Amino acid sequence: MNILVIINHYVQILIVKNRIAYSFYLLISLKKMPKSYKIDIGENMKKTIRDFDLNNKKVIIRVDYNVPIKDGIILDDSRIVKSLDTLKYAVDNNAKVILMSHLGRIKTEEDKKNNSLQIVASRLSKLLNRDVIFVPSTRGDELECTINNLNPGDILLMENTRYEDLDGKKESSNDEELGKYWASLGDIFINDAFGTCHRAHASNVGIASNIESGIGFLVEKELKELSILDNPVRPFAVILGGAKVHDKINLIENLVNIADYILIGGGMAYTFLASSGLNIGKSILDEESIDFCKRILEENKDKIILPIDSVNENNGNIKEVFVSDINENDVGLDIGHSTIKLFKQYLNESKTIMWNGPVGYTEREEFTNGTKELCEALKNIEATKIIGGGDTASIVINLGYEKYMTHISTGGGASLEYLEGKTLPGIDIIGDK
Ligand code: AMP
Repeated sequence: MNILVIINHYVQILIVKNRIAYSFYLLISLKKMPKSYKIDIGENMKKTIRDFDLNNKKVIIRVDYNVPIKDGIILDDSRIVKSLDTLKYAVDNNAKVILMSHLGRIKTEEDKKNNSLQIVASRLSKLLNRDVIFVPSTRGDELECTINNLNPGDILLMENTRYEDLDGKKESSNDEELGKYWASLGDIFINDAFGTCHRAHASNVGIASNIESGIGFLVEKELKELSILDNPVRPFAVILGGAKVHDKINLIENLVNIADYILIGGGMAYTFLASSGLNIGKSILDEESIDFCKRILEENKDKIILPIDSVNENNGNIKEVFVSDINENDVGLDIGHSTIKLFKQYLNESKTIMWNGPVGYTEREEFTNGTKELCEALKNIEATKIIGGGDTASIVINLGYEKYMTHISTGGGASLEYLEGKTLPGIDIIGDK
């Protein structure tokens, strides 16, 4: 490890009251390994689309076509593209395919106009180079008739499942009648929408409660890749960033049992630094999480690695300083160069890396360097590299690093809850093999 980085690191730590023991633990942390730990959600037990005879069957496939749309144009169709393997398999096996998806949130009639799936049906049709039948309703005669007239190999896309939210949140609250009704439209249900698996909705849990069910290829891949973290090749490092500690308390509680190192950046790092007695100026502070940070640092001195320097903004001026030198009016918005070096040392040693949350305020270019540098480091590291969904996924993809990662999750909330060790209701309900 670079001697300067070590010296910087220890100078910062030693100036913090009562932190001498912590610095000692950090010194030996690269050699210590935790006990192995397993998240058990039985993902290998679940039926997949391969376990069914699809021939001439009406197969409802729940996909995630919640794509970004602006002025009637789909800005990113990767969610549609990622569903194609499952669709092609179903078509090749003579299924009558009934697709369901949500799009945006529906609270008013106006929302309905802006969130119709019709535009998605056209894009899907182009991508598949075949007709896709779009039905502009979520129930009723037209939908039922069209489904009953499907031929093997046909694909139908029903209107946005969340249209049903306008009348009492039926889709989002997993209304029993709605789940039963949608299930009655098909013979088999395949869940291929990982992004909604952490929620019990009528279009996933509701349908699966009523007919035979399995997972599609996209969900299968997510579970396969994320479950690598159940029993990771070590050392296993986690990069955690994002705005608030509060949103990640369950995640941290679970990961301290699994990871060898947790490298903390982003807004949440400042609450950890404050809990260590440092002045963080006007940086984002999550006051209600200070006690949690103190306890978790105390209990895991050997594995939680905090920034040693910070890129701050003060009255429009941007300056990089050690964390001990943050001024009253400074706002910390990115990790500094010494922290990047320090984090790289841990990452270079690691064989499995999981990343959740940007390490800087990436909405502004000036504070994207830390996140970029970590992408660049990961590019050159030979390890299993798993990126959580949501913000982190978009940033890694937008910066052009997608091809260097082992897996980028398609579900922000779902991957977070999986990594918190929670059961995902959308998976749990799927039939066992
Ligand atoms: P999360 O959804 O919890 O992963 O948080 C992502 C958000 O955290 C993004 O909007 C980032 O801009 C924000 N973030 C990262 N670092 C900081 C920081 N130092 N101060 C404020 N917000 C930050």
